[in-house]
Formats: sequence, structure tokens, C-alpha cells
Amino acid sequence: MTNKYYRKDIFCSAYAKDGALFQFAIKLRNIPGALAEVARIFSSRGINILHGFHTAPPDREDAIWGFFVDLKGSEEDVDSLVKEVEELNVTLEVKLARPIDNGPIVDQLHFPIMVSGERSIIMNIKTVIETFNRLYERFGSGAGFILYEMGKAAGENEARSVSEKYDLDKPTVLKVILAERSAKGWGIPEIEKFDEEAIEASIVVHELFECTPFQGKNKEAKSQFFRGYLAGALSQLLNRRLTVVESECVAKGDRTCRFISKIY
Ligand SMILES: [Zn+2]
Repeated sequence: MTNKYYRKDIFCSAYAKDGALFQFAIKLRNIPGALAEVARIFSSRGINILHGFHTAPPDREDAIWGFFVDLKGSEEDVDSLVKEVEELNVTLEVKLARPIDNGPIVDQLHFPIMVSGERSIIMNIKTVIETFNRLYERFGSGAGFILYEMGKAAGENEARSVSEKYDLDKPTVLKVILAERSAKGWGIPEIEKFDEEAIEASIVVHELFECTPFQGKNKEAKSQFFRGYLAGALSQLLNRRLTVVESECVAKGDRTCRFISKIY
């Protein structure tokens, strides 16, 4: 199932124990070929670009290309590389950063993070699960309710925001919301059923962040936050008070997680 996807590494940090890492943040004129001109400078010297990101929105006159390079083994002096990139006609500005002392190089040249045009934050799953676990330690089974309600607020907000942003019918809004869950790394949802008339929905999720860490370790279904998220999104979309149950879950040994809507 997941084999058809390439892993997406978000640009943040890099480490090479004996490397010579540098970060470039280059502001370019937003025209075809700008990237190629910069890339030519690095490729002609046999320098491998390790990791980066590029953005050239059609409504902006400038584009950004940020990336890490390792100059170890290269004869190149970084300051002359900067100078050469600066001299290109397509270049508007070049910023350079180095590792934090002897540690990793961490991107401190780009801020904030925008996802689909909205300011976002990134948290790793381990941290999220630790925060969820702390709620269970403190509040017992009440934690499930808290997480469900948190998810519900998030799902309602997302359904509202996607509906307002694009002029789409309800099945397409749901497709967009779920596609964004996989683009943002939550899991890989598939719509099994979405019947507006009967007010019925069934959604299968592979690799759900909330359940996959507990694979086969739980007696019961694990998801509360995402279950609430779907309840919020579907309620908002169908304009009915719905709840969602997780009928199958990888945490209790099922092959995947399956969510089914119920009318209150
Ligand atoms: Zn699950």
C-alpha cells in the first residue's frame, strides 16, 4: 500500500560528522531557467546538493531556493561560490549559514513555515504521542474524551476552511481534506463510502499516526483525536451532528483502521 509513495523529508537540519556543511538561501527572479543557472554552478564543480526546497509562486516576482551542501572533498571555497551565485543575472540575494558549533546545521534562514498558504507548525509523532499519553496518565479514560473533542474542533475548522477556500461539492471537499491528511503525514485515508443522502460515511486509514505506534499492543481501538477529527469534518460538511466509531484498528491487531459515521 505505502510502496507507491516516496518519503517526504521536510527541510530542517542536516548533520555530517566530518563534513563541511553549508546552507544557502537564494532569492531568485521568478523566471524559467533561474534554478538551472544556480544548479549549473554547483554541478560544474561536482558539488552535490543534499537537501532543499524550492518555491516560486506564480503571483510573486521572486522565488526562493534553500538547500544544504557538503563541500567536503571539494576544492571550492564557499565565499567564492556565494560570490559567483550573486553575480548571476537571475540572483536577487544570497544568504549563507553554517552548522551550530560542531553540531548539525539547522535551518535558521527561513521562517515561518507555510503549508497550503497557511502558517503551520511541525511536531514529531513521538512528541504528539507523549502529550496524548500524559493526558491519559492525568485524566484516565477522560483523556479519550478530551482528545476526541480536540479532534472534533480541528475537523470542523478544516471542513469550514476548505469549503470557503475552494468552490467544491461536498464529496470533493472531503477528498481534499483527506488528501491533505496524507500530504501532512497523518496517515493515508481512503473513502470507502460517502453517501450524502443517507448521511453515511466509511473511511479506511493506513499508517495512522495515532495508532501505528501501538500496533497489536491494545485491546481496543486507539484513535480518539482522528476519530473526533472525522466526526467534526463530517458533521460540518453534512450539517448534522455525527459521531464516528473506529470499528477496526491496527492497535488491536487489525490490518488497518476503519472509521464509520453514526447519526446522534
Ligand atoms: Zn486505529
